[in-house]
Formats: sequence, C-alpha cells, structure tokens
Amino acid sequence: MPLLVQKYGGTSVGSIDRIQQVARKIIASRLAGHELVVVVSAMAGETNRLLALAHEITEMPDEREKDVLLASGEQVSVALLTLALQASGQAARSFLGHQVRIATDNAYGKARILSIDSTKVLRALDAGEVAVVAGFQGVDENDNITTLGRGGSDTSAVALAAFLNAQACEIYTDVEGVFTADPGICPGARKLARISYEEMIELASTGAKVLEIRSVEFAKIFSVPVHVRSNFSDVPGTWLVSEEESMSDVLVSGVACDKNEAKITLLRVPDRPGLAAQVFGPIAAAHIVVDMIIQNASDDGTTDLTFTVPKADHKKALAIVEKTAPAVNAQGVRLDTDMAKISVVGVGMRTHAGVAAKMFEVLAREGINIEMISTSEIKISVVIDAKYAELAVRVLHEAFIGKQGTV
Ligand code: ADP
Ligand code: ASP
Ligand code: MG
Repeated sequence: MPLLVQKYGGTSVGSIDRIQQVARKIIASRLAGHELVVVVSAMAGETNRLLALAHEITEMPDEREKDVLLASGEQVSVALLTLALQASGQAARSFLGHQVRIATDNAYGKARILSIDSTKVLRALDAGEVAVVAGFQGVDENDNITTLGRGGSDTSAVALAAFLNAQACEIYTDVEGVFTADPGICPGARKLARISYEEMIELASTGAKVLEIRSVEFAKIFSVPVHVRSNFSDVPGTWLVSEEESMSDVLVSGVACDKNEAKITLLRVPDRPGLAAQVFGPIAAAHIVVDMIIQNASDDGTTDLTFTVPKADHKKALAIVEKTAPAVNAQGVRLDTDMAKISVVGVGMRTHAGVAAKMFEVLAREGINIEMISTSEIKISVVIDAKYAELAVRVLHEAFIGKQGTV
C-alpha cells in the first residue's frame, strides 16, 4: 500500500470536534488505500499558553526545562487523535519523539533532526495501525527531550516522509495552500499551484509561516513531494517542486512579512580588525541565528554595528552583547523590537535586474523609510517600522503581482 505522511496543524486539532473531523479524514484516506503516518501539532494556542506559564516564573527559562514543558502540547494532541481514531474503529497508536526515536542534536528550542529510526512506526503500520506521531519534538543522545523551533511539526512530518520514503507529505492547514502573500493581511493574494523548493525556502525564511524553513530544506534535499492544502476543503493546494518543474515565468512569486525579529545596535564602536568576530562569536556559540548585519563605513574611526536576531532570542542576545560592549569600547547598545522585515522573492530575479529599484520606489511613494536592506540571488529584504508592515506588503504585492507587474 502506498504510504502517505499527513500533518495536521494546531487549528486543525484545536478542539475535540476538530480532532474528530481529522479522524474522519484519516479514515477516508485509509479507505482510499493508503498507509498513514500522521503528525500532529499541539492544539491551537497551546504552545503559547505553555510558554506564558514558564514566563510567569522567570524571564529566561532554562532551555532544557522549557523543551520538556513545550513538548507536552503535542503529547496531548497525539493521544486525543489516537483515541478519536480508535473510537471510530480505526486501529491507531501514538508515538512521542523519543518513542519513534527522532534523534536530534542538543540545541534546545531549535534542535535539528539527525536521524529517524523507523522500526516501531513500520511495525505499527504492518499491524494495520495508523501511526500518530507527535510533531515538534525529538530526543538528543542523552535522552533529553528537545523541540525543533516554532512551527517545527512541519519539519517532523517532512523528515518522517523522507526517512520512510513516503509517496508524499500532505501538510493540512488553515489556508488552501501557499499564497503570493499572507492571505490574512493581503486580500489580493493568490494561491500558487506549484512553487519551487528554492522560492519556498526564501519565503519561509522571510516570514511566510505556512511552512517551517527546515521542513522545506528537508523536502529539497530528499526530493519529498510536499502538498500544502486546506484541512477544511478538498480543493488541491500547492505542490513544492524542483525549479525546473515549477516552470515559473514570473518575476516575483511572493511577498513575505516577518515581525519576529529584533534589531540590536552597538553604538560608536572603534573600528578595527577582529571587531565583528568578537561581537558575533559569542552569539553564534549561544546558537542564536543572526540574520541581517550592517556596519557603516567610519570617518572618525568609530562605527555603528547593527544586526537582527529572532525576537524569541533577543533577551539572550542583548545580554551577550551588553557583556561584549565594554570589551570592544562601544558607547552603548540599542534594542528595537518594533521592526518588520518585508521581502520579495522570485527565481525570475536571477535573470532580471531592477526589482530592488522598483521595490524602493514603491515604498518611497508611501513614505515608508527603509532601515536595512539585504539581498540574495532570488530575494530582496528590507527592514522598516513595524507599523507600516501590512501596508508595505499590500503595495508591493499590487506592484509586483497584483497587476502582473513588470520592471
Ligand atoms: P498550522 O498551525 O497549520 O501549522 P500556521 O499558522 O503555522 O498553520 O501556518 C498557516 C498560516 O500561515 C496561515 O493562516 C497564514 O496566515 C500564514 N501565511 C503567511 N504567509 C503565507 C503564504 N504566503 N501563504 C499561505 N499562508 C501564509
Ligand atoms: N506546536 C508548535 C508551535 O506552536 C509546533 C507546530 O505547531 O508546528 O510552534
Ligand atoms: Mg505551522
């Protein structure tokens, strides 16, 4: 029987009613002749609720204990879905990350999957059971519970599909697929029938949370066919495909917005060789991913060094930078959490110039100031004041996609 991995996000399992609906969907897929491994997220809002509980006790919870806490959300949903399947007469068995053995490194809160032992899952399938696996969690080599980062159930699902050599990985969510912009903030956004792995990696890394970035990286490396689709309708969604298959002839495929970064500036630091290494070394050692970096040229021998980090890490990053600041003779440290990163993504940019210029022009017309800029081969990102984020997405979408804009 062909094997499918299906992933149901938080909204899809947000109540007992919804869990029972998911159970019916799974049973329909079984009847259609598929073996099924099902990955579920915590019920909607649960991960945030657990996080808030930890923060009632301390501003910076111990990372190991935070993962023990957060992983409990998925433990609840796998058990409830398995019970719902059994109650409908479908044999099923739940698995936590350590029971499958989803082995990860020990970077709590953002662990990477290293390998998956498929033995127990395959045994369950052979016994005619649906295997219901907790998303978002794994176990390190010392049996510590780890979590994969927000949205990490997508990664659990795609990684399982890769290791089990599944026919496809279906990501069921609360939208009909991958859109040209977040349909929640851009009413003109259109669903894409296909998108290349490369473009999806850029969109995911710039804020389109419909898929978690590492899930797309896994899909690309292992060529997993991923189908992002609605939990609430049967219409076809979006397929992730190779760049050749995507046959995209548009310049810009999507516009993304990320409000989950914070900006840190070291003010008036004496500019000398080794400065950047001294500042960013300890941040990297703390497993904090730095996104954009800007260092101004200096006239008087001092410079401002500005960079962005995920908001979830900003307190940790700030504490590290405040320690480094005196050592590099910085005159101060500034934090800004009211910023948004807006990005336009498209493989067409490989061969066409002018996208950046048009992007800046469109933002200037709206009086939106650009604070930082970064580019890759198929993406341009700008940092702006968070209060203009939605407006920026809408005007850029209109300029590049809404009217099939060209440059
Ligand atoms: P789940 O709980 O199913 O994992 P998420 O909330 O993580 O769902 O992801 C789905 C959400 O992603 C949508 O509700 C939508 O608001 C948001 N989103 C952001 N950008 C896009 C995009 N380009 N296409 C589709 N959805 C997007
Ligand atoms: N429950 C986790 C989160 O809210 C993982 C996921 O939903 O994918 O981030
Ligand atoms: Mg998600």
